[in-house]
Amino acid sequence: MERRLDALLAECVSSAQRDRQRPLVLVVDDAPINIEVLARVLDGYEVIFACSGAEALSLAAAQGPDLILLDVMMPGLDGFDVCRILKADPQLEKIPVIFITAMTQDVDQARGLDVGAIDYITKPIRQRLVRARVRNHLELKLARDLLERRAVVDGLTGVANRRRFDEFLLQEWLRAGRNQLPCSLILLDIDMFKTYNDCYGHLAGDDCLRKVARALAGALHRPADLVARYGGEEFACVLPETDAAGASLVAKAIEDSIHALNIPHERSSVSHCLTVSQGVASCRPLPAHSGSSLLVYAADRLLYAAKEAGRDRIVAADMDVVAIG
Ligand code: GH3
Ligand code: MG
Ligand code: MG
Repeated sequence: MERRLDALLAECVSSAQRDRQRPLVLVVDDAPINIEVLARVLDGYEVIFACSGAEALSLAAAQGPDLILLDVMMPGLDGFDVCRILKADPQLEKIPVIFITAMTQDVDQARGLDVGAIDYITKPIRQRLVRARVRNHLELKLARDLLERRAVVDGLTGVANRRRFDEFLLQEWLRAGRNQLPCSLILLDIDMFKTYNDCYGHLAGDDCLRKVARALAGALHRPADLVARYGGEEFACVLPETDAAGASLVAKAIEDSIHALNIPHERSSVSHCLTVSQGVASCRPLPAHSGSSLLVYAADRLLYAAKEAGRDRIVAADMDVVAIG
C-alpha cells in the first residue's frame, strides 16, 4: 500500500480512532466476475462483497467500510437507489461512494455525482486507474476522519475536549429538561498540581494527566456518560439521567481509583500521593432553567468548597433541594 495512506492509517490507529489495520472496501456488483476482477485490483486492502443493493446496505451498516465501489445497474435496488439511501442515513452518509458504471454518457455520470457519489469509474476496469482513484479517495477519507476526531478529542489525554463537553452538556441538559430527568456534573481538579510539575517536571505532569483521564474513564460505566478535559488539570464528568445519590457513588469510585493509582507526590501538603478534589452538582432542569451554565456554576462552587475544606474530598449538592450561594 502507498506510503501516505500507510502513515494516515497508522495515525488513525494510534489515536484510537479505528482498530482496523487496513482500509476496508465494500465492492457491490451483481456479476461475480466483476467482483473477482476488482478483488484482484484491490490487493492489499481488506475487501468485502455484496451482490445486491439490499445486501450492500446491510453490510455497510454492520461493518462501516472506508469506501464503497458501487455498480449502477443491478436488479432490485440499483446503484443510484443505494447511494441515495446511504447519503440519507447520518450513520452512513460519510462513507465515500465511487460508482462503477458501463454508462459513459455525461448525463448518467452527472446523475451519479448528484446523488452523492464522490467519483465514478467506467467499465471496462483499467486496473492502474482504479487503484489510483481508490487510494486517493481513501487518503481523503482517513484524513477527514482524523480531522473530525481532533475537533472533539483532547490531544494530550484522549478524552473529550472542552468543545465537545460544552456541546454534550447542553444537549443532555435540554434532554433532561424535556424528559423530566435528573442530570449530574462532576468537576474535578488535581490537588497541588503546580507543585507536582515543579517537583517532577512537566513531562511527568503530562503523564499524570493521562493516568487521571484513564482512571476517570474506567470509573464511569454507563455508555451515556462523558469524561472531558475541562482545562489544564481540571476534568469534567457529565452523568446523564443520574441523580445526586448516583453521582455521589460515581465520585466516590473516582476518588478510589485516583487513590489506587498511587502516584507519589512528595511535595503535596494533602497526602504523600496525588489526590483530587471534586464538586458534584445534580439537578432536574426545569424549562425555566434555560442554559447548562447553571450546573457548571454550581459544580464549580462545590469544587471550590472542596478545596477550601482541605482538598482530597468530594462536596456534592442536589440543587433541587439546596440553593447554591
Ligand atoms: P490546587 O490544589 O488549588 O488545585 O492547586 P494547583 O497547584 O493544582 O492549582 P493551580 O491552578 O495553581 O495550578 C494548576 C497547574 O496545572 C498549573 C500548571 O502547572 C498545571 N497544568 C495545567 N495544564 C497542564 C498540562 O497540560 N500539563 C502539565 N504538565 N501541567 C499542566
Ligand atoms: Mg485548577
Ligand atoms: Mg489544581
